[in-house]
Amino acid sequence: LFLDHPLAEGQGVPLGSDQAHYLFGVMRLAVGARLAVFNGRDGEWVAEVAEAGKRGGILRAVAQVRDQEMPPDLWLLFAPIKKARTDFIVEKAAEMGCRRILPVQTEFTNSERVRADRLRAHAVEAAEQCGGVFVSEVAEMARLGDVLAGWDGGRTLWFCDETLAGGVGPVPERTGGPGAVLIGPEGGFSDAERARLRGLPFARSVRLGPRILRADTAAVAALTLWQGVEGD
Ligand code: SAM
Repeated sequence: LFLDHPLAEGQGVPLGSDQAHYLFGVMRLAVGARLAVFNGRDGEWVAEVAEAGKRGGILRAVAQVRDQEMPPDLWLLFAPIKKARTDFIVEKAAEMGCRRILPVQTEFTNSERVRADRLRAHAVEAAEQCGGVFVSEVAEMARLGDVLAGWDGGRTLWFCDETLAGGVGPVPERTGGPGAVLIGPEGGFSDAERARLRGLPFARSVRLGPRILRADTAAVAALTLWQGVEGD
């Protein structure tokens, strides 16, 4: 269970009504029951139910059972598409252990706004599903141009460009350093964006095969390819 609260020995953690409903109503846990919890920062802990109510309760952290683990330093930048597909991208990127997920606005991005809080909830659910102790950070939506203007050149950007000729590849060489994958919207990138991206010293153009993939498929394929090159 994810708890957005510091975890330390003996630490009491108050529960919200949704968590209380899940633990005491659905899972039928009673006072004294133990369960695994994490907060994305302090590893995995065993916690005990100290108080159980209909609308709240308290868990007490008992002992740390796993250190905090960090996945490779990989970010996903994507242009939000329809709601369900955006949810899918965030969920899959979080399952794959992306450290940071950044919705970016490009020239042909149809959605101008995303609910970052809802996307964060998907990232938490994905971490719970994977049995992980790490939760991906979901950034607020920003313009692609602004994100690139503030880019740390030590982070290699895989620019997924479906207009490159050939099959899969060229697959960039391993850097052993931080990376990011950029996926465009349904309408792809504009010529001006493509020209700018191709000219960036930290960007590498990547082709994911001869077929034009939907953005959500392309995101999963590119993250898998990156992990194949850099490690997972
Ligand atoms: N411009 C395309 C069109 O309408 O014909 C569609 C873009 S595609 C649906 C969305 C994004 O997925 C692209 O901008 C690119 O980042 C990525 N993508 C899809 N297929 C790809 C491929 N074969 N190689 C590299 N990137 C791909």
